[in-house]
Amino acid sequence: MRAIDVRDLLERPGSSRTVRLDEAVEGLRTELAEVPEDRHVEGDLLLESVVEGIHVSGEVSATLALRCARCLREFDRPLGVHVSELVLREAGPEDDYALTPDLTLDPEPMVRDAVVLSMPFSPLCRPDCLGLCERCGGDRNLGECTCAEPPSDPRWAGLGGLTFDR
Ligand SMILES: [Zn+2]
Ligand SMILES: [Zn+2]
Repeated sequence: MRAIDVRDLLERPGSSRTVRLDEAVEGLRTELAEVPEDRHVEGDLLLESVVEGIHVSGEVSATLALRCARCLREFDRPLGVHVSELVLREAGPEDDYALTPDLTLDPEPMVRDAVVLSMPFSPLCRPDCLGLCERCGGDRNLGECTCAEPPSDPRWAGLGGLTFDR
């Protein structure tokens, strides 16, 4: 992701401008979710010059490639995430965002953090996904399970012998 020259903002505290983001971001990946590198992260970021540095805020969006935690099917889902971070003029304690020594701002670390933290930990292709059979591995959504029906609940077995006279 290209760095943004913010010297003009730093010279005028209180000034601001918007930058358009439409780029690939590396490293957007968790176990079951990712933004593949051929997909862009898009959004408008407002850069505001404050005493400590540059405040960055805005909405970014991307299309996630997910794998269902139950049936392992791959599917896409849009993600929108709000970014609001202070980028310090000089690096402070660890974990803070900071401008580069030549006073440019790289939005990639904060965008990466915001997107990765918003990725679903346990994505489901649909809320009622039936998942895979633990025994045969067949996809229950597709009726692929070839196992015999589990034995019926013994609490109800006695009812099978009942007849109803009317
Ligand atoms: Zn599923
Ligand atoms: Zn089965």
